[in-house]
Amino acid sequence: MKRWPGLIKSYRDWLPVSESTPVITLKEGGTPLIPVASISKRIGGNTKVYVKYDGLNPTGSFKDRGMTMAISKAKEEGCKAVICASTGNTSASAAAYAKRGGMRAFVLIPDGYVAQGKLAQALVYGAEILAIKGNFDHALDIVREISDSYPVTLVNSVNPYRLQGQKTAAFEIIDDLGEAPDWLCIPMGNAGNISAYWMGFKEYFNAGKCKNKPQMMGFQASGSAPLVYNKTIIDPETIATAIRIGNPVNKEKAIKAKNESNGAFLDVTDKEIIEAYKLLGKEEGIFCEPASAASIAGLLKRKDEVPTNSTIVCVLTGNGLKDPECAIENNDAYFHKGVEANIKKVASIMGF
Ligand SMILES: *Cc1c(COP(=O)(O)O)cnc(C)c1O
Repeated sequence: MKRWPGLIKSYRDWLPVSESTPVITLKEGGTPLIPVASISKRIGGNTKVYVKYDGLNPTGSFKDRGMTMAISKAKEEGCKAVICASTGNTSASAAAYAKRGGMRAFVLIPDGYVAQGKLAQALVYGAEILAIKGNFDHALDIVREISDSYPVTLVNSVNPYRLQGQKTAAFEIIDDLGEAPDWLCIPMGNAGNISAYWMGFKEYFNAGKCKNKPQMMGFQASGSAPLVYNKTIIDPETIATAIRIGNPVNKEKAIKAKNESNGAFLDVTDKEIIEAYKLLGKEEGIFCEPASAASIAGLLKRKDEVPTNSTIVCVLTGNGLKDPECAIENNDAYFHKGVEANIKKVASIMGF
C-alpha cells in the first residue's frame, strides 16, 4: 500500500506551489468518506448520506488543509512569524505547522470561549497565546491591523492559500465517489470552507473530472447566523464555539457559492446541533465537534427537500475530542458511579 504523502504532494498540479516551495506537512488530507446508514434511513428513499470526516486530520480539524499551504508559502517567502485570530482550531493548526516550519506562532483567542482540547493543543505546540476580552470578530480586527504593520503573516482564511489548500477536500470527495454529490452540507463560521469546496468542485468540473456540481447547503447556529439573516451579529452565541462568528470574512464568496450552485443557507438551533451530535456518536460511532454536527442537523431539518435517490456529503469539520466538556454535559450514557468492586453487583447493574 502506498502511503498518503499529504495534500500538497497529492494535488500539486492544482495548487499554487513550485519546485522551490518548501512543503511543510503533517500528511494532512486523505480523510475517509464514511457512509452513515442511520442518517440515510432518516432521509428515506434511496438517498445515500456520507460524512467527510475531516476531524481525522493531524491536529483534528480541516484547518490543517489550509495551514499546510499557508505555512509552506509563508516559509517560501522567508516569513519568521505567523499570527491568527481563532475560535480554537485555527490556533491549534497554525501553531503545529508554524513550529514544524521553524516559525513563531501568535494566536489571539476570545477569553473563555475556546474548547479545552484546542487550548491544550496551542499550549503544547508552543504558540504564544493572547486571550483577549472580546469575541472572535474583535480578535480578527486586531490581527489584521498587526499583520499590516509588523513582519508577521496572517494565516486566517483571508489568506488566499488557506482556501487553496482546503479546496482539495472537494477533489477527494469526487475521487472517492467517482462523481460529485448532489448536496454538500457544511457548517459555516467565517465561510472560508464552503467557498473553498465550491472552488474545488468548479475546478474539477471545468477539467472534466465530474459531470455535475453539488448544491452547496451552508448551515449556521441560530444564535450566530449572519449569513442566514443577512446581517452582522454583534454578540453571537452558540454551544458550537467553532462557528461563533458574527461577521464572516468570506461572506461575499459564500453567497456567490450558494447562488452559483443553487444552494441554500439555513440555521439550526443548539438543541438540533446536540441531537445530531449525539446521534452520530450513538448510532454511527463517529465523534465530531458540535460545530460539525450542524451539517447533519441542517440536513435532517431540510430532509423534505432532498432530491430523490440523491448522494449527499456532510462535512464533519472537527474531532469530538476537541471539546470534552460539551461531550460530558451532553450525552445519553448510562454512567454508574461508585459501583462496588463485586461481581454480583456489577452483574446486577448489567441486568443479569
Ligand atoms: C473553522 C471551523 C468551522 C467553520 O469554518 P469556516 O471556514 O470558518 O466557515 C466549522 N467547524 C469547525 C470544527 C471549525 O474548526
